[in-house]
Amino acid sequence: MGFSIKAMWTNKCPRCRQGNIFTEPFNISKPLDMPKQCADCGQFTEPEPGFYFGAMFLSYILSSWFLLLPTLLLVFYFKWSVGGAIAFTIFLAALTYFKFLRGCRSLWLHMMVKHNPQIEKDVKQRILQGV
Ligand SMILES: [Zn+2]
Repeated sequence: MGFSIKAMWTNKCPRCRQGNIFTEPFNISKPLDMPKQCADCGQFTEPEPGFYFGAMFLSYILSSWFLLLPTLLLVFYFKWSVGGAIAFTIFLAALTYFKFLRGCRSLWLHMMVKHNPQIEKDVKQRILQGV
């Protein structure tokens, strides 16, 4: 099938949905470290130079709306002070920073690379056989 929100959310390879597209375990000093290729199917994690330039815009748009809407809701619906709402927004931004950073790269890669059910099946079979 086409797009998988689960694979995108869990930072799995878009082609085989098994391999990780980021280096694990998570290292806070290198949050965007990616292996050159998916360990399971060989899909390049950076198909061309500057590939993630678009992910930067995606991240900007998504995080802006994600932070703006609750802030407006707090100020105009729940009658919070502007200072309180901004403090909450900064706290929310800090909490979700790494998820947005990696998530938008993952989303971008999933938008650009097609899923291949045959490769997913082959990779799952190889994992089951322990090869
Ligand atoms: Zn893969």
